[in-house]
Amino acid sequence: MSASPARQAAIAAANYQRVSNTLAFKDSHTAALYGKNVFNEKVMQARLPKAVYKSLRKTIETGSPLDGSTADVVALALKDWALERGATHYAHIFQPLTGITAEKHDSFLEPDGKGGAVAEFNGKQLIQGEPDASSFPSGGIRATFEARGYTAWDVTSPCYLEENANGVTLCIPTAFVSWTGEVLDIKTPILRSMRALDVQARRILKLFGHENVAMVTATAGPEQEYFLIDRNFYLTRPDLLSSGRTLFGARPPKGQEFEDQYFGVIPERVLAFMHESEAELYKLGIPVKTRHNEVAPSQYEIAPIYENANVAADHQQQIMTVLKRVARQYGLECLLHEKPFAGVNGSGKHLNWSLGNGTQGNLLEPGSTPHENMQFLVFCAAVVRAVHRHAGLLRAAVASASNDHRLGANEAPPAIISIFLGDQLADVFEQLKKGAAKSSKKSGTMHLGVDTLPVLPKDAGDRNRTSPFAFTGNKFEFRAVASNQSIGAPLAALNTIMAESLDYIATKLEKAPKGKFEAAVQAVLTEIAKDNGAVIFNGNGYSEEWHQEAAKRGLPNLRTTIDCLPILASKETVAAYEKYGVLSKRELEARRDIAYEQYVKAINVEANLVVEISHTKIIPAVTRYQTEVATNVAALKAAGVAADTALLETVSSGLAAIKSAVSALETERGHHVHGLVAEAAHYCKSILPAMLEIRKAADALEAIVADDLWPLPSYEEILFISK
Ligand code: ADP
Ligand code: MG
Repeated sequence: MSASPARQAAIAAANYQRVSNTLAFKDSHTAALYGKNVFNEKVMQARLPKAVYKSLRKTIETGSPLDGSTADVVALALKDWALERGATHYAHIFQPLTGITAEKHDSFLEPDGKGGAVAEFNGKQLIQGEPDASSFPSGGIRATFEARGYTAWDVTSPCYLEENANGVTLCIPTAFVSWTGEVLDIKTPILRSMRALDVQARRILKLFGHENVAMVTATAGPEQEYFLIDRNFYLTRPDLLSSGRTLFGARPPKGQEFEDQYFGVIPERVLAFMHESEAELYKLGIPVKTRHNEVAPSQYEIAPIYENANVAADHQQQIMTVLKRVARQYGLECLLHEKPFAGVNGSGKHLNWSLGNGTQGNLLEPGSTPHENMQFLVFCAAVVRAVHRHAGLLRAAVASASNDHRLGANEAPPAIISIFLGDQLADVFEQLKKGAAKSSKKSGTMHLGVDTLPVLPKDAGDRNRTSPFAFTGNKFEFRAVASNQSIGAPLAALNTIMAESLDYIATKLEKAPKGKFEAAVQAVLTEIAKDNGAVIFNGNGYSEEWHQEAAKRGLPNLRTTIDCLPILASKETVAAYEKYGVLSKRELEARRDIAYEQYVKAINVEANLVVEISHTKIIPAVTRYQTEVATNVAALKAAGVAADTALLETVSSGLAAIKSAVSALETERGHHVHGLVAEAAHYCKSILPAMLEIRKAADALEAIVADDLWPLPSYEEILFISK
């Protein structure tokens, strides 16, 4: 291992010591922990007057407006509950368009005018907050002098307590809008799109003869991938620290080629971290369920049980926060970047999505004979139509500088948005193209050839890991979502385009003459299968053939963020979002422009780092080594020994290469480009490739320069010592 003092110190410190305050699940069962810090139904029922509780439940369950007088009563109960639990402050939590979680804390204390203070919290403070909005991106919606922004309590997402060693804060999930009423956050469009989806889905259910249909909600279960590395390495890599990914690093001798990490035994320190972070998440009522090793070394996954999409989106933000916080207590850093290390797998966030309600259940449940299940086929066809018509929007909703390293860059999943339906359903859709579907392929059972092993029921279709949008039994899994991203934008997009397709179908079916309903369903299914079947693809999404085939089918292949951002405010997107009251044209344009800005800023920070690390770390190290080798050559020559100058020449030419690559990047950065779109294109087409040239030169040098001189921890150290 390394002899460089800084790296040696990092390695020495990376030695994990078991923490002493181990969690005693024997004493405190997870069931007792679960929801402990949440103002949940149980607490509300116990603490609120019956009428108030009922009115609140009605708002949550049916989407009816909140009764004004309710807020004061709820605020009082909330305050008492929070104070009993040691809270000193409350905070409106919101998600501005940067995608991160924002919070403004206020103390409960109010001076009482007699030199003392009392704890105060009323309905108005619960319902509305007023953080200064001027420092949040608005995409040109507001000038900075128009600073007012409001947060508004979202009753449908529960309040909770955030514990800290020195105090407790009551957190209130809120939406965030400008003084002029324009939406400045990620939550509001989720809520609006869910309402639209409910209205359209219920029209369909009514047509199928259901009465007293409960509110239909979108459901989401996001699987979060992440890396855990020893924090000492993190702190000695300025690139990781400031950009979230390594901008340098030669391939380690061993990578992920043995496929020995996926589902492997979880290392002790990591498991200790998982136990504690899960305990923290249980307390917050976040139903985390699954944990395992992922494909790349030091990569892991955590997945909750699905929930109402709005709550799932809030919980997902909390999961990311808790993972990062708890990791540090174990001397680890949790990396949520989509591609922290070149050459091994990156991280995504598989967004499982469906819709359903209390009366009909999951509306994407096919049953064992889907060809007969017309209602399911209608909902499934609506997804196929929506994804086909808005494939570009879905790609754009997950686009970022960091996610470009996965999508369109030879990694899962590809940038071409297609749907995997599995053998059984794809076959039903093929039949539908020609008319009525008459059969469903059987699922069957599997005999393992050993009498003591059970006979396993077999799924009707295999899985497909290469598809960006896969049907997985009774839900769709959108795999292109970025690991670092809020699930809000892709959720709002899915709900909105689904509402549009359901509306389209309902409008057709409502016109069907009496007694001709089935024929009308048949006709619309056939039409959708024919017109939108091109988006269905069960094969290998990574293959070159698929790229060609997709082009023939007219499916967009949007490799980079700059290729797809215009779609965030395209005619089709605006039409759908405006029709269902999700976002206005101006709001969509603002989001698009913020995405351009974020793209440019992210790459600009990386370019700063590449230049700084080259100048201050790599070039000096290589120069020292060059001097050392040159001194050796000179000494040998002076002693009359034949000196081999090959190494000196390689090091010298490597040094020349990195210097010229750095100056090429600096020249590129000197070009002034005007306008956001042109600037983003310049970063994509000129800055990024110039950065990559520097990396190539540096990584080649890392392989030959004496290890004790190399200034950055190696991939081998980071990925394999961290456990
Ligand atoms: P996988 O299919 O990926 O092996 P699971 O079936 O356990 O794994 O589901 C993965 C994720 O999908 C989990 O977060 C789970 O809660 C979520 N999920 C399951 N059913 C639904 C649904 N109806 N709506 C949304 N998400 C769901
Ligand atoms: Mg999955």
